[in-house]
Amino acid sequence: MSQDQHSIPVIGHWINGKVVEPQGASVREVFNPATGKVGAKVILGGENEVAAAVAAASAAFPAWADTPPARRARVMFRFLELLHKHSDELAKAITLEHGKVLDDARGEVARGIDIVEFACGIPQLLKTGFSDQVARGMDNWVLRQPLGVVAGVTPFNFPVMVPMWMFPVALATGNCFILKPSPIDPTPSLLLAQLLQEAGLPDGVFNVVQGEKPAVDALLENDEVKALSFVGSTPIAQHIYATGAARGKRVQALGGAKNHLVVMPDADIDQAVNALIGAAYGSAGERCMAISVAVLVGDVADRLLPVLAERTRKLDIGNGLQSTSEMGPIVSREALDRISGYIQSGIDEGAELLVDGRNISAQKAGTAEENGYWLGGVLFDNVTPEMRIYKEEIFGPVLACVRVPDAAAAIQLINKHEFANGVSCFTRDGNVAREFGRRIEVGMVGINVPIPVPLAWHGFGGWKRSLFGDMNAYGEEGVRFYTRQKSIMQRWTGNDKGAEFAMPTPN
Ligand code: NAD
Repeated sequence: MSQDQHSIPVIGHWINGKVVEPQGASVREVFNPATGKVGAKVILGGENEVAAAVAAASAAFPAWADTPPARRARVMFRFLELLHKHSDELAKAITLEHGKVLDDARGEVARGIDIVEFACGIPQLLKTGFSDQVARGMDNWVLRQPLGVVAGVTPFNFPVMVPMWMFPVALATGNCFILKPSPIDPTPSLLLAQLLQEAGLPDGVFNVVQGEKPAVDALLENDEVKALSFVGSTPIAQHIYATGAARGKRVQALGGAKNHLVVMPDADIDQAVNALIGAAYGSAGERCMAISVAVLVGDVADRLLPVLAERTRKLDIGNGLQSTSEMGPIVSREALDRISGYIQSGIDEGAELLVDGRNISAQKAGTAEENGYWLGGVLFDNVTPEMRIYKEEIFGPVLACVRVPDAAAAIQLINKHEFANGVSCFTRDGNVAREFGRRIEVGMVGINVPIPVPLAWHGFGGWKRSLFGDMNAYGEEGVRFYTRQKSIMQRWTGNDKGAEFAMPTPN
């Protein structure tokens, strides 16, 4: 990493084991959301940098693909040790550019580490089936082989964890990887690249191209890129899926969300309030598994809302580096303006604003953080399905409460929504919970668990317009995504019956 003439760090690409900073390249400012100050500049790549990264990855591929899986796993084990050693450095880099509180950033690094632990088991995961004697003297077995050069395009909200949903499994299965991180918080991408190199990963196997749309377009257009993993908003996910698939690539494109949490009348109120507070306002609601709709069943609203509103008003909002902060700033000025627009639309459309987080900036006036992107927790009651704040993804600390008469109405409401990433139900009734889990049309379900992010070996993925593609991220689906099956049939006996014109059958 170099510095510009004002001593601002410049974040470059990582190609073939080196930082690359092309002269005269255009740059974008990287802000600290708690202060509104520029903390770094990131170089924006395009066709040339993607071509260089693809060339490096293609050159490295044959030797890496031929490396025995157990040896690839050893690189992952060393990477795992280094991640533990550097986890605080990674977490601090996340907080400085994203804004989330440090403990949350540490949690993000830990959930990324989970996937590296999974990838360390790659020799076992690549074991396949063998059928002995499928015909006389003939055996049939399958191999799972890497695809070649694969790429990942990732969002701002998890600059460590989401890339690590992808590259540990891609690398362990023998592919070479190009990461295109979000330009909003690019610093962790270079830290990860350096740690992979220190772990012994050969140069060219992992590359980073910084940038925006032109870099993504160049990856989509390059026929050497055999697969693309994308995580981000739904319109871009759909575009990446359609364009990549039309060019013959394997694509998994995870999109946006509107996650509901149902509170049944028999639920423990304190437990439900704690769940809602953490899941709606943690990370300022900028999580794809954040809860943005509370579905309050029967009479539970009147008992729950006073407690929830009180807790929302008391949220400690501050710089993520301060240990007392429960919620940090919003990621950017643009995001703050977008979220503020949604709050106004909720008011205009007739929802009842119980807690208005917009006055927080007044508290910061005159402090070093007065130019930060501040918003407190926002709570709406009496939201209806026609309102924009119900239908659209806000991606901020705004919780919309919808009242419904019973569990069937809750399920019907949720199943009609275009997004279907995560959902949760709080109840003490096992039968209600069981029926909810079976009937809900959402990819990831929590029962008395507000943010049901599956563990490393289960794989992550929503349904409907929350995921375009056929396979989930990481887990065994990730192993399948990054490998293709080859079937081999083999006969060594002298059993030649001459030309056969009938379809071969076991004999
Ligand atoms: P985004 O869609 O703006 O950006 C995601 C990535 O796409 C970034 O790398 C960005 O540089 C790139 N990009 C942006 N515009 C592009 C374009 N026109 N063409 C090609 N590439 C483009 O998303 P974001 O704001 O960074 O992240 C927030 C979104 O991500 C939310 O919608 C959230 O729900 C979603 N998300 C989903 C999941 C999931 O697992 N489903 C996880 C995390 C985030």
